[in-house]
Amino acid sequence: MKITTTEAAKWQDGKLVLTIPETDEIRGRRYRAKQVVSDYPHQVTDDGVLFNTKLQTQLLPDKVGCVCQDMKNRQLPCKHVFAAASILGDLSALLDEFTQAVARSASEPHRKRSRLRPQDIRAGRFFLLSDFLFSDTALKEGLPNWFDFNSDYGHGIIACMNVLCDRLLDPLCDEFGRISITRGYLGEQVYARLYPRDRANWVKGALAHGFQETGGADICIHAWQGDALSLAKHIQSKSDCYQFDFIRTYPESSILCVGVGRFKNSRIITEWHNNFAGSTTHRP
Ligand SMILES: [Zn+2]
Repeated sequence: MKITTTEAAKWQDGKLVLTIPETDEIRGRRYRAKQVVSDYPHQVTDDGVLFNTKLQTQLLPDKVGCVCQDMKNRQLPCKHVFAAASILGDLSALLDEFTQAVARSASEPHRKRSRLRPQDIRAGRFFLLSDFLFSDTALKEGLPNWFDFNSDYGHGIIACMNVLCDRLLDPLCDEFGRISITRGYLGEQVYARLYPRDRANWVKGALAHGFQETGGADICIHAWQGDALSLAKHIQSKSDCYQFDFIRTYPESSILCVGVGRFKNSRIITEWHNNFAGSTTHRP
């Protein structure tokens, strides 16, 4: 099949850039791209991604292309192009409920962010921003674990924390009472101290603890009497109460690492990936 290309978008510095105003028609394609990412088998090629062994996309510095009928008919970036951009690392290419929830939260005036102290800023019904900044490593080593709460960047981080609380942490408090965040936000200096060989990889390496595209925390649920895996399974089983992407258990620890993001996969992960730099050093 022949590739049709369009200059309505281009691939530059690892980001898909639209060169035309974004219309509802394009937003619809960004929304449908999520399903392409989760359902289609794919293979990364020299200049794009191949879906379903036949749908070839192309992401080039001056244009994008795809073999599909939609691209041929409309000459607008299709859902496959947005899906390919997301697979190649531009997570903002997808439009989804998580992105929308974060944007909504960032624009809500009642979530006050104008004051300077982290204990004045609410992250959830049961949590303050200060709960997310505590780090025993930061205390021991005298490192700051801080970001500018008043910047757009800071508002984005807090908005991710809001969604994490709305979907998971606040409902957990409703069921179990007070829970503790043992690791929330992981700032650059604390990250570099924890993973000295991987320091260049912050924020990406901090995963959900970087609160950029996703939100996550290590939590201790004091009232739970069983082991971590049975707790994870309990949370997973109550899908009417809890929405999350993953719960990760640590070896020999009651602490859970939990995360929300654009996917609500409700996964339980008990193994660390071998190719993740933190796999041998990560401890709760
Ligand atoms: Zn296409």
